[in-house]
Parts: sequence; C-alpha cells; structure tokens
Amino acid sequence: LWTQGCPHGCIGCHNQLTHGFTAGMLVETSEVISSMKRYSYHDGITLSGGEPFMQPLQLLEIAGEAKKLNWNIWCYTGFEYEELLENHDRRKLLEMIDVLIDGKFELDRRTLSLPFRGSSNQRVIDVQASLKENRVIELEL
Ligand code: SF4
Repeated sequence: LWTQGCPHGCIGCHNQLTHGFTAGMLVETSEVISSMKRYSYHDGITLSGGEPFMQPLQLLEIAGEAKKLNWNIWCYTGFEYEELLENHDRRKLLEMIDVLIDGKFELDRRTLSLPFRGSSNQRVIDVQASLKENRVIELEL
C-alpha cells in the first residue's frame, strides 16, 4: 500500500511522485479494507510511500484489519524508530507493525547489496522484539 505525501525530501528518492500532499487520489480506508478482504489469501501487507506515518490513524485502522486477517505487516518510513516512539499516534501504528525499515534514503550510502534497503543507514527492525526489550533489535538477514 503506497501512501501519498512525504516530508523527508531525500535526494535520489525513487518515488518522487509520492511527495506531494495534495497529489494522488483520495481512497477511503473502508475501500482499502474491502480490497484486503478480497485478497484474504495473502499473508501480509507492506506499507510504503510517500511517508506512511503521515497518516497514522488511517493506517492504524488498516493495520487492525490486517491483523484480523492474520497478515504480517512490514512498513517503510523515512523517520527513525526512536522518533516514532515520541509521537502518540505514530507509536500506536508502530505497535501494530512486525518489521520496520527506517531512516531516510541517503544517496552517498546507496547500496544494492543489502536486502530490503536502499541505503546502508537504514535498519530492518523487528518491532515487536524491540518494543518488548526497549531497544532496537534488527532482523538478522
Ligand atoms: S522517505 Fe522515502 S518517499 Fe520520502 S523522500 Fe525519502 S526515499 Fe522518498
């Protein structure tokens, strides 16, 4: 699921059409949830953008439905994990996520060799284990 709108402005972003907050198209969460039910044989959803954490309450609803379907939830964000903990609504969404790839894309640290990441500063975080232990735990890939 790609969300529209991103404030991070990473140089070299692969998805610049998603930056504008008034571009794209408006889709009701109920519509997204209906689509998810049609694809209930899937086993997960990836939230990307754009910046998913600019729409935390809407995605919280969608994430709740994903959990009802027993799906795993991966999410890409330009924020860092620690920043997300500081905002009430963003933290609520974070608590629903299984794997978070965090941090801005940094062109001078671009890599094609690390799985799931665009640049080496980004981390692939096991969110549930991190919340439980109150420290960042990265997935071993
Ligand atoms: S956070 Fe992602 S979508 Fe936003 S500018 Fe950076 S690379 Fe692009």
